[in-house]
Parts: sequence; structure tokens; C-alpha cells
Amino acid sequence: MLLSGGIDSATALYLTKKTQGVRALTFEYMGIAQSELTAAKAIASRAGIIEHRMVRLPDLKEAADIPGFGPPGLPPTYIPLRNGIFYAFAASYAEETGAAYIVGGHNEDDTKVFADVSPEFFGSLQRAFWSGSRILRKNRLEIVQPLKRLKKPAVIRLAASLGVPFELTWSCHRDSEEHCWKCDGCLTRKRCFKEAGIVDPLAG
Ligand SMILES: [Zn+2]
Repeated sequence: MLLSGGIDSATALYLTKKTQGVRALTFEYMGIAQSELTAAKAIASRAGIIEHRMVRLPDLKEAADIPGFGPPGLPPTYIPLRNGIFYAFAASYAEETGAAYIVGGHNEDDTKVFADVSPEFFGSLQRAFWSGSRILRKNRLEIVQPLKRLKKPAVIRLAASLGVPFELTWSCHRDSEEHCWKCDGCLTRKRCFKEAGIVDPLAG
């Protein structure tokens, strides 16, 4: 399970926890908000999973931190081939622990923006893992995205039904004690809770 501090990955974690034992991976890339890491740790701890491993990738940068790099149509938070890197770590972790699934919390909106969230990409990646690891092939490792057909408000409704602790999640792109309610992450959170008809415990 790939775990950030956000609502999507927390929802995927709680959904998976209903039927499977879960281990989670969180990636500390350059410039990630410390509040997001704190949120990921708190969510993993509350969910009572088997293990939460932090992977330090200090040289991996967001587009905004790479001089002269700004691909059109992608947000400044884009990380070049992020999921190629994250899922390779997850596959190594799955080989080590005997896990049969890698779960990501990408929602339907993500699949429209990022090529490395497409079904084609994950299908190719799964085949590559099977050809590169006898253990993963034997365990028939599958990459699954349980939220891929849900838009964010639907994810929030599902999260509420699963008891996801919204108060522990983090959506702000800035690093501070509280959400700023001005950045893209905060505005999207606000709009989607409203559309979902759910009260956000963090909104003042
Ligand atoms: Zn914000």
C-alpha cells in the first residue's frame, strides 16, 4: 500500500484493511510537506497496520524545484515518472514480504492528468515485475487501484462510510501547522467535501 497523508490513500488503506493485512510505504521526496509525513504516520498508526515503512528519496524533486522543467498540462507538484519509482520500491517490498497486491489510492481525476497513473502503464509495470522477479510471478503480484473509477467527492463519501479519520489527513501544499485554505490542495478539499455533503472536521 502506497500511503501519503491525503484522503485518497487513507481511503484505499481503510478499504484494503477490511480484507487484507496491510503494510504501507510513504516516500519522503525533496520538499514534501512535513505535515503530510506526520499525517501519513498518524493514519498508519490509527489504522493499526502491520508495518509502515518510510522511504527517503531526497534527490527526487517536484517539477517546481527543477530549474527549466515545466511540462505543459502538469501541475508544479508533478514528479518525473513518480509512479515508476514508487511502484518499483513497492514491488521490492512485496518481494521481501510475500505480499500479493500493491494498492494505490489514485482516483479517476488522477488518471486524466498523469500518464503514470494510466491502466496501460500499470499493466506494463505488472508484466515487467513478473518478468523481473520469480517471487512476484509465483505470488501473482497484482497492482490494484480500488478508487480509479471514483471522483473525489465519491471517495470522500466512501471514506466516511469506512471511518477514515479525516481529522488526521493532510491536503495542503504548504508546510505549516494548519491548512491554509488558499492553495489548490485546500480549495479542492473544500469543494469536494461540499459536493460530497460531508462536514470536514478540519474546516473552520
Ligand atoms: Zn493549503
